[in-house]
Amino acid sequence: MSETYEQMWSELGLDLEAHDALLQVLGKGYQDIYMSQSGRAAGMEYFNFVMSEVHGLRVKELLDGKKEGRKVIGSFCVFVPEEIVRAADAVLVGLCTGADFAMEEVEKLLPRNTCSLIKSAFGFKLGKVCPYMESADLIVGENTCDGKKKAYETLDKLVPNLYVMDLPQTKSPEGRALLKAEYERFKKAVEKLTGVEIDGARLKRGIEIVNNKRKAVHRLAQLRKADPVPISGLDALLVNQVYFYDDPIRFTDSVNKICDELEERAATVNGAFPENTPRILLSGCPMAVPNWKLPWIVETSGAAIVGEESCVGERGTRNLTDASAATVDGLMDAIVDRHFLVDCAIFTPNPDRLNHVKEMKDAYGADGVIHYGLQFCQPYQMESIPVEADLENHGIPTLRIDTDYGMEDVEQLKTRVEAFIETLR
Ligand code: SF4
Ligand code: SF4
Repeated sequence: MSETYEQMWSELGLDLEAHDALLQVLGKGYQDIYMSQSGRAAGMEYFNFVMSEVHGLRVKELLDGKKEGRKVIGSFCVFVPEEIVRAADAVLVGLCTGADFAMEEVEKLLPRNTCSLIKSAFGFKLGKVCPYMESADLIVGENTCDGKKKAYETLDKLVPNLYVMDLPQTKSPEGRALLKAEYERFKKAVEKLTGVEIDGARLKRGIEIVNNKRKAVHRLAQLRKADPVPISGLDALLVNQVYFYDDPIRFTDSVNKICDELEERAATVNGAFPENTPRILLSGCPMAVPNWKLPWIVETSGAAIVGEESCVGERGTRNLTDASAATVDGLMDAIVDRHFLVDCAIFTPNPDRLNHVKEMKDAYGADGVIHYGLQFCQPYQMESIPVEADLENHGIPTLRIDTDYGMEDVEQLKTRVEAFIETLR
């Protein structure tokens, strides 16, 4: 552990011993899962570096920015509009929700049957191991699923700076009006926090930065249509995860560099897996760092993941925000319209998501779909049954997996995934 960072973590109030233990587990997991892959793009070296410094250099950058007056805003959901945050020269970071931590303490505050993602956010706070949460000037919660919206009432007592955004549950004109009103309220809150008045030029610049990031991940996604697929699903997932942490301009450059390299690889038919490897589309709950369990099982069982229908994936990034409006109100409308297309399972009804799964299956040439639901996630587990039924009706082999962040079910999952892949051959 670096001395410099130790002081930084200590000043943030982290529990150094617990944090050190977390970093060791994270480092070992990364070594075992990521560094054991062969034939990775050279450009993934950047992402190895990002992961090795995920609680170090990136946090230091945020703290250095804070000394210059740049605010840090933490979020748990893709409905928090990054365009507005960037327009005020603030930084939006995804908060750690991908690993179990301090579960005994968490279950004193939340029912045991709460999804791993929500429990993880609490565990990182209670265990004092998340430098992002401790660096944040504002933590934004959102009324999406019932689990999160009730958990924020409790989180509000643990952090001094929680801001809760209301969200619609239907794609109706009234739902859109609510989203617009909430984004206007959020814009005012960001302006108050940063002391920056967000005008049209700033908003356009914010949209441009975030759109460029999205365009880079779209470019990467397009390349995954090739057979052999030029990048593993694990590496593509990592890129989608780092999307939420990294400096956006540096991230965009790094992803575009990988795309240049993969384009050359495609020309020489140099894939991450052999040609004709069974191709899987993952669909369902988001996978935050370091939740790599299911992709690792799939890709060590003889298949390649070619797409993620997920908020850490295409659901979160597929649409761009139109930057052509001339007024702040017009640009705010464009931000609302863009986010209103996100087909999260909290919406009822939610037919767009099912259509998108089928579109992605065709576009990426997937042989089958694995639906990933976190245990106790009502929205995605409820949707998984009709999604599976519809896909099967369309002749699309589908495997429904419900799991959590624990490793106890790895062998059982591996057996089911291997059997599923066998049927795709
Ligand atoms: S799945 Fe829904 S609640 Fe979760 S990040 Fe995506 S939009 Fe937000
Ligand atoms: S995984 Fe499901 S239950 Fe958990 S926070 Fe997301 S939508 Fe809510």
